[in-house]
Amino acid sequence: MALPDGVKYAVVGAGIHGLSTAYHLAVKLKEKGTGSGHDIVVFDKTSIAAGASGIACGVVRNNYFQPAMRELMAQSVEVWESDPQAYSYHAVGYMQISPESMHKDVATIYEQQKAIGYTSEFIEGEADCMTYMKGLFSDWQAKGITSVLHEKKGGYANNTAAMYGLATKAEAEGVRIMTGVKIKGFETGGNGGAVTALETDKGRIACDYVVVGAGPWANTIWNMLELPKHISIKGANGEMHDNVAMWKFWCLEEGTLGVDPDMHKTNDGKAPPVIHVDSNAPLYSDEDGSLITDEMWGIYYKPDFNFGGIQGGAAPYEVEQDPDAVAVDPYGPESPDFIVDDNFIHMWCSALAHCQKRFEGQMKYYKHKDPSGGLGCFTPDSFPVFDVFRENVYMIADSNHGYKMLGVGKLVAEEIAGEKSRLLEPFRFSRYAQGKLHPVSSSPFPWS
Ligand SMILES: Cc1cc2nc3c(=O)[nH]c(=O)nc-3n(C[C@H](O)[C@H](O)[C@H](O)COP(=O)(O)OP(=O)(O)OC[C@H]3O[C@@H](n4cnc5c(N)ncnc54)[C@H](O)[C@@H]3O)c2cc1C
Repeated sequence: MALPDGVKYAVVGAGIHGLSTAYHLAVKLKEKGTGSGHDIVVFDKTSIAAGASGIACGVVRNNYFQPAMRELMAQSVEVWESDPQAYSYHAVGYMQISPESMHKDVATIYEQQKAIGYTSEFIEGEADCMTYMKGLFSDWQAKGITSVLHEKKGGYANNTAAMYGLATKAEAEGVRIMTGVKIKGFETGGNGGAVTALETDKGRIACDYVVVGAGPWANTIWNMLELPKHISIKGANGEMHDNVAMWKFWCLEEGTLGVDPDMHKTNDGKAPPVIHVDSNAPLYSDEDGSLITDEMWGIYYKPDFNFGGIQGGAAPYEVEQDPDAVAVDPYGPESPDFIVDDNFIHMWCSALAHCQKRFEGQMKYYKHKDPSGGLGCFTPDSFPVFDVFRENVYMIADSNHGYKMLGVGKLVAEEIAGEKSRLLEPFRFSRYAQGKLHPVSSSPFPWS
């Protein structure tokens, strides 16, 4: 495909956000009679699903302590449900299984899910939780669980298949997807410094509007746009915190136990919900009985035919490096630095065995030969920034929350078409200076 001289809407990144925005914008422009998919080109330096969207576990859930996140996720679940086949979406549900230290937070989530009509069930007390879990899985054995939130909606999608499904839908609307084109910088002009052209490794492309969905490369693009590396944040008590780094990296730890995915079904032979367990019960090695941790830990898992086994992960770790020094490329399984190690495998497999007897003694089947895990680029408060910079650059920086956020591209498309979104409003960049921050939960994960 020849490189265009100019394009009306240039989208950077063929991951979930770039593709979803391109598809929904094409539909919106057509609906409004103001354009079509032929006005949109998606550019990716590598390929469709080359970033986080292509390696994500693919879990889709509502379980968030922050009301604004929950409302946004409910909207995204509707989009997943609108075309489960194209999106390779499995609506098996999701369970948040927690210890007493998280009970109050999760109870709030349940109450607010009821208020927004998001179907879920909440079980409280150790004995009732055990009975409920054994009713689903006769071999359930996790200790110290005092609340279970069972979301009846949500589930997971097959990571790459969903991206190709989205790409097909976008292309059917006339959107062009150009891979192997790397954005190296932006040409700017005018008083507000709006972007007038993309500087790519294949040449200059004039553009009217830019959408950025660059996932782990958010910091790189942010630097190209010459946006601030450090910002000021107003804390809850009104105190200003200056010189806070805009971006930080966390490494996501995920892997696959290479057993028959069918070994993990519910008692009545159905596909189980995605399981997420947080616990402060001591975690012992399934190999030699030694103590792995007596502090808070968490894991999630699901049977997945795409990955060929039981796939899931544990809490990520923060990368203690200046964000500009972090090697994002090569990304994912190709990275020499940011893939899981033996400690993760030992902990995650032992935690599976802690939860369900069927996983005892299965660590030997872990897929050692398939490197897994990858970087996520996080904002200062670890929540997304959806906002317009330099007058005409819509930045979708999801702070690594976002495979599940299929609906964000739809809302962004509506905003580009001139319709302000109430759901996106709590995620503006100005919230840092104004102190309009999201509440913080007691989960061990930075994204709950
Ligand atoms: C291991 C792991 C597991 C995860 N699991 C889940 C999960 O279960 N559920 C969930 O909701 N979220 C999950 N996430 C988070 C989620 O995957 C990301 O938040 C989301 O995929 C980001 O989507 P994106 O479209 O912004 O970016 P990406 O999918 O990363 O796409 C960005 C694209 O931009 C391209 N690009 C970058 N720079 C340039 C450039 N200069 N020029 C041209 N193209 C460029 C890249 O090649 C890439 O294809 C996980 C993340 C990781 C790393």
